[in-house]
Amino acid sequence: MEIITRFAPSPTGNLHIGSIRTALYSWLFARRYNGKFILRIEDTDCERSKSESVQSILDGLKWLGLYWDEGPYFQSKRLKRYQNIIKDMLNNGYAYKCFCSIKKLEEEKKNQILKGEKPRYNHACRYLKNNHFFDNDYVIRFKNPLSGKVIFNDKVRGKISINNEELDDLIIQRSNGIPTYNLCVVVDDLDMNVTHVIRGEDHINNTPRQINILKILGAKIPVYAHVSMIFNEEGQKISKRNNAINIMEYRNNGILPEALLNYIIRLGWSYGNQEIFTLKEMQSLFNLESISKSSSIINVKKMLWINKYYINNLSTNYLATILKEYIKKEKINIKNGPNLESLIDLFKTRNNTLKEIAKSCRYFYEEFFLSDKKDSNIYLVSSNVYILELIYRNISKILIWDSKEIFKIINNLSKEYVISIQIISTLLRFVITGNISSPSISSIIFLMGQEKTLLRIKNAIDYIKNLNN
Ligand code: GLU
Repeated sequence: MEIITRFAPSPTGNLHIGSIRTALYSWLFARRYNGKFILRIEDTDCERSKSESVQSILDGLKWLGLYWDEGPYFQSKRLKRYQNIIKDMLNNGYAYKCFCSIKKLEEEKKNQILKGEKPRYNHACRYLKNNHFFDNDYVIRFKNPLSGKVIFNDKVRGKISINNEELDDLIIQRSNGIPTYNLCVVVDDLDMNVTHVIRGEDHINNTPRQINILKILGAKIPVYAHVSMIFNEEGQKISKRNNAINIMEYRNNGILPEALLNYIIRLGWSYGNQEIFTLKEMQSLFNLESISKSSSIINVKKMLWINKYYINNLSTNYLATILKEYIKKEKINIKNGPNLESLIDLFKTRNNTLKEIAKSCRYFYEEFFLSDKKDSNIYLVSSNVYILELIYRNISKILIWDSKEIFKIINNLSKEYVISIQIISTLLRFVITGNISSPSISSIIFLMGQEKTLLRIKNAIDYIKNLNN
């Protein structure tokens, strides 16, 4: 049997980390068994569906490399198919028209609540004869079985059993003729031969209803796996409507796709204590049995830790192509400065994201005014001129440009003039980068190049001399 999974988002908000987890699990499961992964956009709710959300779904999946084998199917383009199924269900007595007004239904609901009963449709129209003679507003309801049970084995939650008495006669077509979510999902899962439905636990209540419809359509019931909720760091449930961060924001913030997938797979799935998974490993190890029942909480620190791991372990060439995007956003022209590969090598043990690297490397490419820099009055003082002049002289003498040579110069000066290496390094850092923190100063000077380094030291000396004149 070919494994077929699907990711079926409604385009009613940003694609967030919870939806991506569902997509990832469905994608991995299909990949593991050489199956098929389908993308289906559930856009029958015309009022809430937005084209920006569709775009966010497509962009997010592509960015993360979760390519689909089929689709995207749009439910809005399959309305005829659903309506035909509904027509058949009406003709075969599996569905009926309901003419009850919203007002009447609301009153009924209020009364039921007052009586302490669970609100449900009272079946008023279920037994109407010749209901096709009515031509006013109506919805179409599914004739849910009145007795018996729906039992299914959820791969995450185990055996779930619901009495049919508990289930309402579900509306499958609205009064505007548009079929509802539960009907469309069922028809699609059937038509697309979906074998495994992996989705959020917010759909668990829909499952018995969907199974009942699938049964009357003669479908093979798919395997279900309902994954638990994700909470944000503030402890709120992540929801499309209010607090969901668009997955592309993680990209804007410098998270690598590899790191994000690795982070997300662990939000509710485990393989022993292993934290780092290559994509290959994910594809060969992922299973439904190890999905956790408990909810998960976003932990940004951990995400950054994983991101840093990938910055230190992916190929520098690849990282450089991504760093380029962030450099572009910073509007830095890298023509006259070190190449991006060497920036990555220099910063990778210090920074968590490529965005941070892009933000901290400007001084390599652009001149700056020492007078603009905070603390210039601390470092640009006349007592420092002689050290700067000594360094200038020594650096200008280097014939073969090499960071070890630079280190040696600083070290020797420190010994000879009994000034700590730290003091010399901080002064040089300030003069060359405008900051007092940076990677090792000899590496910075090495990457900066001899000419630019000498120019900046000279500028600093001139600056101090001017100040004192
Ligand atoms: N369209 C639903 C949603 O976005 C998912 C439906 C399903 O996976 O069955 O929540």
